[in-house]
Amino acid sequence: MAEPLRLKAKSASPGIASGPAFLAERPDAAPAPRTVGGFGALEKAIDISIGELEHLAEGADAESRDIIDFQIEVLRDPTIAEATGARMEEDHNVVFAWVATLDAYIGELEAADEEQMRARAVDILDIKNRVLGALAGTPIADFPPGSVFVGKDMEPSRFLAHDWSKGGGIALFAGSTAGHVALLARAKSVPMVVGTGRFSAADGDPVRVDGDAGAVVLKAGGMLIPAPAQGPAGDTQTAGGELRTADGVPIQLSININDPAEIDALDPATAGVGLMRSEFSVTSIADAANEERQLAIYRRVLEQAGEKPVIIRMLDIGGDKPVAGLDDLPALAASGLRGIRLLLARPEIARVQARALLRAAVFGRLSVMLPMVTFPDEIDRMRELFREEAEKLGRRSLLHRMPPIGMMVEVPSAALMLDTFGSAAFFSFGTNDLTQYLAASARDDIDADAGKAAPAVLRLIAQAVKLTAGKPTSICGDMAGNPSYLPGLLAAGLRHFSVAPARRPAIRSAIIGLNADGTRAAGE
Ligand code: PEP
Ligand code: MG
Repeated sequence: MAEPLRLKAKSASPGIASGPAFLAERPDAAPAPRTVGGFGALEKAIDISIGELEHLAEGADAESRDIIDFQIEVLRDPTIAEATGARMEEDHNVVFAWVATLDAYIGELEAADEEQMRARAVDILDIKNRVLGALAGTPIADFPPGSVFVGKDMEPSRFLAHDWSKGGGIALFAGSTAGHVALLARAKSVPMVVGTGRFSAADGDPVRVDGDAGAVVLKAGGMLIPAPAQGPAGDTQTAGGELRTADGVPIQLSININDPAEIDALDPATAGVGLMRSEFSVTSIADAANEERQLAIYRRVLEQAGEKPVIIRMLDIGGDKPVAGLDDLPALAASGLRGIRLLLARPEIARVQARALLRAAVFGRLSVMLPMVTFPDEIDRMRELFREEAEKLGRRSLLHRMPPIGMMVEVPSAALMLDTFGSAAFFSFGTNDLTQYLAASARDDIDADAGKAAPAVLRLIAQAVKLTAGKPTSICGDMAGNPSYLPGLLAAGLRHFSVAPARRPAIRSAIIGLNADGTRAAGE
């Protein structure tokens, strides 16, 4: 077993606690899809949240009640509702109007000179997420009694909802001794330390919180995670596989994941993720507004993938990929906007996801892919949005890293002009849409037309590969999972294939039997 690691921290509540680590920022179970309405839905979600807080206050001690009363007061504050209503009049969807209003409040508190004020930011974050949870039907998750809560910060309602009678403690990377949770911990004699710096630990690792000396001891060993270097994470596309064509050319074979539940089946020893369709993690517009929930899902994928690269595609919603509540966004329902165009038309959606991705990037080898890109300026605008959000996260001292940003090649005009996409870090061919738009067929009819359209699609891919200027290039559309197209795709110069997990064995054995120019190996 590794040597125990002792990290210096600030004592926030005395006493000593040992227990298995519970790592915060984990995904909640996917909520049932549900439509989010207008202001009425927000009022209802606020009422539900007030009811939950009143329930928590029952039987709570005086100090806990003070905090809850403060949160209820904020929820009842008419100026919060008015600011949210004003944002809705400016064409914001209700959940994004709520998030923007509360984020502005949190930002003001975080920038305050007095520590007491700064410490209140987490109380507001708490009610922001509680109301978002009520809008999406996701309750705040509890954690096992007796464990040591490990995270950047802790929301008071999490503390209050938890059963501390079985022991346990709290170790926060950041946090404040003046914060409400510290106050509650002292009142309830829960050992707590803050300011440990971010450290690595696995869920369930034994941890000791020494609230007397101000230290946290990772009994199974661990390490402090240094602050991230700024700038691109580098090339995440280098081949990591032992898979080779018959004539010895290395081939990277990754998997596509859709449902977040597929993450658990991911075998980090064998494959990276060439495409994660993030839209499947977002079942309602309330999820699209929930940065913490998205962060938890992306983090889980990255941790599961370990050293392997992971490409997460930004939300490809709109058009034929509806999201519950999206119709609430005026002017979008009828416009048919989709993919990056929708993200740029509704930057409030993109900004939440960009923050979640920037924060997730520190947990693995993340690259971000943009869907349905048609023109180069779309990448430049999204890059700028990422840069702005990174700056904001930096101001709030939230750990983040700028991932490489690349694009799907699934719009024929983009494929023809690929050499003009100078700011794309990498390319991935999406043959589902490429076929649809090239053959003027409805997506539902692709199956009928795909065979006939394939020669045209392959010719376009072969031409486009020549325009990639040596940048990492892959294919993640369904064509990659069909062995009959492999000779053409190899001949076009593709060396990185991303397929549904179930297609992997067939593609792997087909590659072994082919030369890199797509010809059949001798003896096959
Ligand atoms: C594609 O178009 O080929 C692709 C991979 O994207 P999606 O199937 O999600 O539209
Ligand atoms: Mg597509």
